[in-house]
Amino acid sequence: MASRMASCIFCKIIKGEIPSFKLFESDKTLAFLDIQPLSRGHALVIPKAHGEKLADIPDDYLTEILPVAKKLAIATGANEYNILQNNGRGAHQEVPHVHFHMIPKPNVHEGLGISWPAQ
Ligand code: 5GP
Repeated sequence: MASRMASCIFCKIIKGEIPSFKLFESDKTLAFLDIQPLSRGHALVIPKAHGEKLADIPDDYLTEILPVAKKLAIATGANEYNILQNNGRGAHQEVPHVHFHMIPKPNVHEGLGISWPAQ
């Protein structure tokens, strides 16, 4: 587990070793913009505990995820969006650290004060 954590991209983002555009951070949760967004405001919400699959993550690292994704969705101004988690390679998971996507529908980003960076 330790060696997988050492090479994990999202663990490096948590530690600040790889830069990211952070949107929310607490002791158990981090949210940041996806580097290859499917739409403007596409965010990832992740537990700060390393685990590849949802079943690997302790419940107390999951309780904030949906409320944070909901707040970010509201902040984009979008009332149409997808919140999803790809669990396993066969389910199109590419990064082996649990993450939830919040993907606003395009062209609805008149948000509540967030200055979205150019993407
Ligand atoms: P998955 O297919 O595993 O559900 O999605 C992984 C997501 O992580 C992709 O949307 C991809 O663009 C994003 N991603 C991969 N590497 C990085 C990175 O270094 N920084 C950020 N911000 N996003 C990343």
